[in-house]
Amino acid sequence: MDFGKLTLIGMSFNHQTQESSSSDNSHISLLHALYFKLKVFPQPSQYTVLAAFYLTSSTRPDCHIISLGTGTKCLPECRLPSQGEAIHDSHAEILARRGAIRWLLEEILRERDQGSQWIECHEYMYRFREGIELHMYISTVPCGDASTRFLAAFQDLEMASLKDSTVVTHSEGTAARGRDNYHLFNVLRTKPGRADSPPTLSLSCSDKIASWSWLGIQGAFGAKFFNRGIYIRKIIIGEVLSSKDRALIELVSADCERALGGRLEGGLPSDKGPYFPHKPAIWFTPIAFMHSRFVVGLGTTSTSSNESLCWYAGSLPPSPHSPARALSPSSSSSSKSLSEKIEILPHSNAFDTQSGPSHIGTAQVIINGYKRGVSPKHRQKLKDDKFL
Ligand SMILES: [Zn+2]
Repeated sequence: MDFGKLTLIGMSFNHQTQESSSSDNSHISLLHALYFKLKVFPQPSQYTVLAAFYLTSSTRPDCHIISLGTGTKCLPECRLPSQGEAIHDSHAEILARRGAIRWLLEEILRERDQGSQWIECHEYMYRFREGIELHMYISTVPCGDASTRFLAAFQDLEMASLKDSTVVTHSEGTAARGRDNYHLFNVLRTKPGRADSPPTLSLSCSDKIASWSWLGIQGAFGAKFFNRGIYIRKIIIGEVLSSKDRALIELVSADCERALGGRLEGGLPSDKGPYFPHKPAIWFTPIAFMHSRFVVGLGTTSTSSNESLCWYAGSLPPSPHSPARALSPSSSSSSKSLSEKIEILPHSNAFDTQSGPSHIGTAQVIINGYKRGVSPKHRQKLKDDKFL
């Protein structure tokens, strides 16, 4: 993708602030209940961001949560490992998307074994069944282009002075660093951090979500199995309505509409293959997340948590014939190269997170890009641990 061009696309949008429905809010309450049940919480006086993917069906009122993530951290360029064994980007949205991809790939195996109420096979590829839609929840406005004006409204004086003193020449075709020049819109940005912290190379969540609105969330490997992009129908965002400032809410609504997909409209080809812009609907929910920055204490000594939670639904039972199972495109599974396969192994740490077998899930905790509790010498030996 030529990210440089994206900064020039979509300069104005008509928008209407959408407040989530009671049905949406019941889904968000279920997400929060699952988070509470997982019990991976920040330390006292710390906050985090919660993100999740879930499915709805036109034939039932509830939802099926497929992945959940928390986190606000990202490795700076100077700490990226040479062997690629660490997760670079541990923001909640990114981990939730990784979990969603994992669930999608495992659901293909479940579909082959016992059928699926969510996906179906069509001409040797897979797709969602009719009436199934994918949605995303984020407990606050995603970092990057969507959140610049929202954060500016609550920024503390120390951070404001740092940002105000940073005047950066932003050249077309490059990404701006964090919140530098935060008065500019439609700018691709790297993950934010304090202005005096080492820079990262990861794009902001706003920019990554915008790319998903064009390419889908499934990634290059998932594209081998799904006959079209897996697109987000609706994104529900928290915290915004708590401001009570209608003017600010309208501004943030416009920012989210633009940043999370609107800026791609009209600027990219819409008739080439299975991938074309699908701007997600943006809704705001009044339901507060228990460990959000607003709830923990805005403007106090609260800090962001170092820990990230990754969870995805479903767990494949151990095969009676083999300790591992291979997933490959259904058309010719035996002829694919090793690089086109992924091993799905039984999970020793699967546990029931809600009543009923459909909500058994797998969870991990990530700190500084690595699984919690694993010593450095074992980080490249986790043969039974291919979660993310
Ligand atoms: Zn982010």
